[in-house]
Amino acid sequence: MTTPYHIVTIDGDGIGPEVCQAAVEVLARACGKDLLRFDPRDGGASHYVKTGQVLPQDTYEACRSAHAILHGAAGLPGVTYPDGTEVGNDLHLQLRFKLDLFANVRPIRLYAGAQSPLRGFPPGRIDYVIIRENTEGLYASRGAGVNLRGEVVTDSLVVTRKGTERVARFAFDLARKRSGAPRDGKRRVTVCDKANILRTYAFFRAVCDEVKADYPDVEIDYAYADAITVHMLKKPDFYDVIVAENMFGDIISDLGAGTVGGLGIAASAEVGEHHGLFQGAHGSAPDIAGQNLASPVATILSGALMLRWLGDRHGDKRLTEAAGRIEAATEAVLAEGKVIPRDLGGQATCTEMTAAICARL
Ligand code: ATP
Ligand code: MG
Repeated sequence: MTTPYHIVTIDGDGIGPEVCQAAVEVLARACGKDLLRFDPRDGGASHYVKTGQVLPQDTYEACRSAHAILHGAAGLPGVTYPDGTEVGNDLHLQLRFKLDLFANVRPIRLYAGAQSPLRGFPPGRIDYVIIRENTEGLYASRGAGVNLRGEVVTDSLVVTRKGTERVARFAFDLARKRSGAPRDGKRRVTVCDKANILRTYAFFRAVCDEVKADYPDVEIDYAYADAITVHMLKKPDFYDVIVAENMFGDIISDLGAGTVGGLGIAASAEVGEHHGLFQGAHGSAPDIAGQNLASPVATILSGALMLRWLGDRHGDKRLTEAAGRIEAATEAVLAEGKVIPRDLGGQATCTEMTAAICARL
């Protein structure tokens, strides 16, 4: 076992530094001194303003050799490259493609103390995971769109066998091993697509079907992307793992986050064969940056995802157990109802939230 695990942290922009530091504090408290080595690196839109670089070479090299990457958030409005295009969260996108982080993992779990707008679902009753394909689909068309004399504009939607196979396999593997379960106890992967309208999505579904053949113990289920938005509100406890093409996955994971309390509580992981990047599902929220108003919960829970992923990969139970402690401490603080972040209807600042979770640990 290679300890300490080398964790590159990139604060990024907006609320990124506040929430990233919060997660580092909680991780250090949960794991003790010797398990993790944090290695802070620069990058993002604000770094670009200072240096002309979004992803410095040394940051990239560190990310490549690290065991995992913890990221605040990237993107500042109004920062542009010389050609006028927005810098945005380019840091994050570059890492996603260079490190081939093909599976975007978005757990949708209702914690005690987080109000769901859905009535009749007690804590724990909503507990599923959305797997968003992260490297192809409609969003990969960035830069490949065509504008014909200002009259006709097209983007391309590309779905490959390789890209679909690996993300489908990831979803089925996860259904096998995850601890949450839908209300009927059946292990299930729901394929979210529009197979009735577009060939690309019919192909996505067909490849998922092929992969399913290797998983007789996991049920396969299909939902059109429009219909699933209703199902996610009416029967969220039916779902176990949902796998979707890039754009659909993006949209339904924000919807899912909304059903369990919003973006400030939604964790996210982006993983590939060799690398993993962990950050909250939200962006850099420049409107509340630097005021100690942001909720660190999403990034803290993403840190727990990081420990789980590392623990699985390296067969190190200490990490998996620390992940469980962070999730339990976060839930206990929210359930107690005294220290609640603003986006969940409370008054707690970012630092108060972090201190309360650390105290529980
Ligand atoms: P991106 O394009 O990166 O997804 P976005 O435009 O969707 O970003 P976010 O940065 O995710 O926007 O934030 C949307 C709004 O949600 C913010 O303006 C902020 O008010 C709120 N928000 C996001 N994250 C948090 C948080 N951690 N705590 C509190 N409020 C948040
Ligand atoms: Mg967004």
